[in-house]
Amino acid sequence: MNENCDVAIVGGGPVGLALALALRGNDLNVVLLEAREAEINTTDPRALALAYGSRLLLQRLGAWQAIPNVSGICEIEITQKGTPGKTTLKASELKVPDMGYVLPYTALHAALQHALHQSDIRCLYGAAVSDLNTAHGCATLTYQHQGKQHQLDAHLAVVADGGKLLEAAHPPQITDYGQSGLIAHVNCSQPRAGMAFEHFTPQGPMALLPYLDGYELVLTAAHNSAQEMLNWDDAAFLAFLQKHFGDRGCDTLLAQPADCGSSCLAAPPAPEGYATPCRSGVGIFTAIGKRSCYPLRLKRAPDLTFPHTVLIGNAAQTLHPVAGQGFNLGLRDAWELAQVILDHAPDNIGTAAMCKAYRDSRRLDRNAGIRFTNGLVRLFSNDLPLLGPLRSAALSLLDHLPLAKKFVAKRMMFGANG
Ligand SMILES: Cc1cc2nc3c(=O)[nH]c(=O)nc-3n(C[C@H](O)[C@H](O)[C@H](O)COP(=O)(O)OP(=O)(O)OC[C@H]3O[C@@H](n4cnc5c(N)ncnc54)[C@H](O)[C@@H]3O)c2cc1C
Repeated sequence: MNENCDVAIVGGGPVGLALALALRGNDLNVVLLEAREAEINTTDPRALALAYGSRLLLQRLGAWQAIPNVSGICEIEITQKGTPGKTTLKASELKVPDMGYVLPYTALHAALQHALHQSDIRCLYGAAVSDLNTAHGCATLTYQHQGKQHQLDAHLAVVADGGKLLEAAHPPQITDYGQSGLIAHVNCSQPRAGMAFEHFTPQGPMALLPYLDGYELVLTAAHNSAQEMLNWDDAAFLAFLQKHFGDRGCDTLLAQPADCGSSCLAAPPAPEGYATPCRSGVGIFTAIGKRSCYPLRLKRAPDLTFPHTVLIGNAAQTLHPVAGQGFNLGLRDAWELAQVILDHAPDNIGTAAMCKAYRDSRRLDRNAGIRFTNGLVRLFSNDLPLLGPLRSAALSLLDHLPLAKKFVAKRMMFGANG
C-alpha cells in the first residue's frame, strides 16, 4: 500500500523549504522530497537580492535571524550606458530601513533548512521524484530513495523543483533572450556603502549589489561573449568591466555618505590617488573572484495548477535576474499557497476550489512580476538610435516624480499584491 500525506512538496530549494516552514505546526502531514543526497547545503555561487518584503516573510518563517553577513541596500541607482539619465530609489524616501538585502543563495538555503529541521515537517533527502500521476483522485508521486522505488499519495502535490518534473508533459512557454548571466564577487577602490547599481547597456543589463567589502556582479551578455569572458584573465576582465560600467565618470562630489539603514557598512576612505569619492561610479575595479555563468530565459508554466497539483517558484516562472525578482516572487508564491492550504484544511486540501483560490490569489502579482522583468530586458537591451535618448529622458523624469518612483519601488519591495 502507498504511504499518504496531506501535502507533498517536490524540491527542497529555497521556495519549497519556505512553503514547508509556512505549513509547520498546523497538524498537517507534510512531506518534503529533495533529490540531493545529503542534508548538506548546495554549492550554488549566486548571490540574491532580497526585497524588504521578503525579509518580513523570512522573519515570520523564523529563518531570517539565522542568516549571517547580510548586506543592506539603501539606494538603487539606475542608469543607461552612454546617456546622462538617472533614477535613484532611496529607502529613506520610502520610510523603510532598507530597500533590500544581498546574501548568498547558500546562506539563505542553510538558514531555511536549519529552521525546518526544528519543525514537525518530514524531509526526505536523496528522494528524486520521477513521476506525478493524478488519475486516482489524489496526486501519486513515484520517487527513488535509498535504492528503492516508493509511492506517496498526497491530497496536494506542490511542484517546487525549479521546473523539470512536468516540463515534458506540460511544456513551459520560453522566451530565450540569447543572453547568459555572468556572476562574480568584485572589489573596487570606492565602494558605496549600501548602494546598488543597475546599469543598462545594449549588450544587456548589469547589476552591482553591495556585499561585504565589495559587490556581487551580475553581468549579462550574449551566450558566446559570456563564455569567452569566463576564460579571460582577471586583468582583462577588470579592464572590460571598468569600461563597461566605469565610463559613467566620477563627476559629482559625494557630500554625505548614502542615507543608510542600520545594516549598511561604512564606506572606507578613498585610497591615495582617488582622493575624491564620487557620486557616480565606484572608482577602480581592483579584484574579481571566481566567475560563473547561467543561461537566462523567461520560462512560464502555461498553467499554475493541475488536479491536486500546484506549481510554485521557478517551476511556475523562471525570470531574467535583471530586477532580482525570481526568488522574491517564488517566496510570495510559497507564502500565499500556505495561507490558501490552511484556509482549506483539513478536508479541502487539493480540491479544484482550493487550486482555483490559489490561481486567483497569484494572478496579479505573478503577471506583474513577469511583465516588469521582461519589459525591462526588452526595453533596455538594444541600441535602437531613437530609444536611447528617450530612455534616458524617462529615467530622469522618473527621478523627479516621487509618486511614480514610490510605485516602482513598492512593486519591487512587496510585489503587486502589496
Ligand atoms: C544569476 C542569477 C541571479 C539571480 N539573482 C536573483 C536575485 O537577485 N533575487 C531573486 O529574487 N532571485 C534571483 N535569481 C532567481 C533565484 O535564484 C530563483 O528564483 C530561486 O533560486 C528559485 O528557487 P526554487 O526553490 O524555486 O528553485 P531551485 O532553487 O531551482 O530549487 C529546486 C530544488 O528542487 C530539487 N529538485 C529538482 N528536481 C527534483 C526532483 N525530481 N525530485 C526532488 N527534488 C528535485 C533541486 O535539487 C533543488 O534543490 C537569480 C537567478 C540567477 C540564475
